[in-house]
Amino acid sequence: MSDCIFCKIARGEIPSNFVYEDENVAAFNDVNPQAPVHVLVIPKKHIASSAAVDDSSVWSSLMSSAVKIARKLGLEENGYRMVINTGEQGGQSVPHLHLHLLAGRNLGWPPG
Ligand code: 5GP
Ligand code: ZN
Repeated sequence: MSDCIFCKIARGEIPSNFVYEDENVAAFNDVNPQAPVHVLVIPKKHIASSAAVDDSSVWSSLMSSAVKIARKLGLEENGYRMVINTGEQGGQSVPHLHLHLLAGRNLGWPPG
């Protein structure tokens, strides 16, 4: 996907400081953070949304990377939230699968 913003970030075409990177996953700070810690974890391969995942290894790499990042950032003691918005009513605005890792304040529930 040549014009997908998260593909461009994953390919390094838009300079970003990766919080974490491996063969399958990249993670970087959200440009509009909703909490003191707001990291986006994405598969490097373009997948439009959670609904388009057809290979369960995508979930293992995404979720295990998010937990590793939480550990690396010292979030385990106070806790954190992982969110994947999907589709219009789910609040997804970027059509490349991403997991939000949020922490650093008391997060409200239910979400708006
Ligand atoms: P969604 O609403 O799709 O669940 O989340 C998309 C997220 O991507 C939003 O939190 C938004 O702030 C973030 N975002 C959109 N464009 C960019 C960008 O170019 N760089 C970064 N770092 N974050 C972005
Ligand atoms: Zn993409």
